[in-house]
Amino acid sequence: MAVEQCELCDKVKDRVHYNKKIEMRICRLCYNTEVCIAECAFCKREKRVALRIDAGPVCPCCYYRVRERYPCDECERVKAIQAHGLCPACYQRKEREKKKALVKEPILASSEVIAFPALPAP
Ligand SMILES: [Zn+2]
Ligand SMILES: [Zn+2]
Ligand SMILES: [Zn+2]
Repeated sequence: MAVEQCELCDKVKDRVHYNKKIEMRICRLCYNTEVCIAECAFCKREKRVALRIDAGPVCPCCYYRVRERYPCDECERVKAIQAHGLCPACYQRKEREKKKALVKEPILASSEVIAFPALPAP
């Protein structure tokens, strides 16, 4: 594997890839911190992408708003979205069903892991 120098942080890394968007050869770390930026589907500003939904990328600020009023794919109630376009109740039910299909034992609701990406307060 070729060892190359990242054009952004100048560190020598073994995984440096050419990025078309910024036209530089950059490492994975720089990609995550510098390039995960897109036009938000709601505010139309170039921001870090917190979440991607059908409408497009969502910045952290809009993510909070979207969470509050996005209709759930399953029950169609306007709810805080947990993941995959589902409200927490529907998401957890689906996850339980998924786990039940894998393991035969019943799973307690308290063992559910709420998978929210960590975001700074708006
Ligand atoms: Zn770098
Ligand atoms: Zn936004
Ligand atoms: Zn729901």
